[in-house]
Amino acid sequence: MSISSSRETCLEVKNLKKYFELKAGLFKKPNILKAVDDVSFSIAQGETMGLVGESGCGKTTIGRTVLKLYEPTAGTILYKGQDITALGDKEMKAYRRKMQMIFQDPYTSLDPRKNVMDIIAEPIRFMDLRQGKDVGDRVRELVELVGLKPDHINRYPHEFSGGQRQRIGIARALAAEPEFIVCDEPISALDVSIQAQIINILEELQARYDFTYLFISHDLAMVRHISSQIGVMYLGDLLEYGQADEVYAHMLHPYTKALISAEPIADPDLAAASQRIVLEGDVSSPIDPKDECRFCSRCQYAKDVCRQSRPRLKKAGDSHYVACHLV
Ligand code: SF4
Repeated sequence: MSISSSRETCLEVKNLKKYFELKAGLFKKPNILKAVDDVSFSIAQGETMGLVGESGCGKTTIGRTVLKLYEPTAGTILYKGQDITALGDKEMKAYRRKMQMIFQDPYTSLDPRKNVMDIIAEPIRFMDLRQGKDVGDRVRELVELVGLKPDHINRYPHEFSGGQRQRIGIARALAAEPEFIVCDEPISALDVSIQAQIINILEELQARYDFTYLFISHDLAMVRHISSQIGVMYLGDLLEYGQADEVYAHMLHPYTKALISAEPIADPDLAAASQRIVLEGDVSSPIDPKDECRFCSRCQYAKDVCRQSRPRLKKAGDSHYVACHLV
């Protein structure tokens, strides 16, 4: 499933599944948590795909699975046309350098016992990218690139603010000289005033180095700002997917409409005129889900057909797909 782009495809994911077995007790069959259940999408080189949805919808699991931090249960992951799905640790080494991750929580993702020099130098040394004095020069270059000062390299993570720590996390990801970066909620632990700075850095780096991003967030406004295409996740399923402008202008899935209606609106007149869609009903369980629409327990339009089979993504426009029986 692809969105038209003039650039070559960087990452393509076909029918990706990631299930976790949950022990149910002695002599009982384990329950299966379907964190990601048959999801397909692709991202062109130098572009950003925003993946949105509530906590627990499977977006972080997708990010970790495409990087092979989790082994996929089924499906195919193609990186620049190469099938990396079944590669073992040894064969993945070359790809790990090209595929990096920026973590959600800059407080816990940095080793508190190491200073900035050691934190950023670690992947450079581990991947044998520079030797001797060149390692320090590269660290200084990266520190400057993310807007930190040269004297910061001798300090420890606890001496920095949240925004500065996230800059260190970005510099560490860049140290491996990646091409594709999974940004897993990179701003959600930061103050609103700092969030825009981090987004600006990510955008500047993309313009300069042609990075491809999978940007995971529950913040629709930020996803709208940074992404060229967007995927809306719910309980392990991709419900709507397409060019970001197209999805925002002609959103079709009831869940996407509810998510967008909950976005804060700065203009008080527009805010007063807008109607928020309040979702009622309980979220279904991702454990052994039935063959039905994953959203049907909360959808105001649900019909019998919605409980009889799970709708699959179908084309709803040039660069737009939706999974709903009634669209
Ligand atoms: Fe709602 Fe049915 Fe569409 Fe699911 S398939 S979103 S329940 S209308």
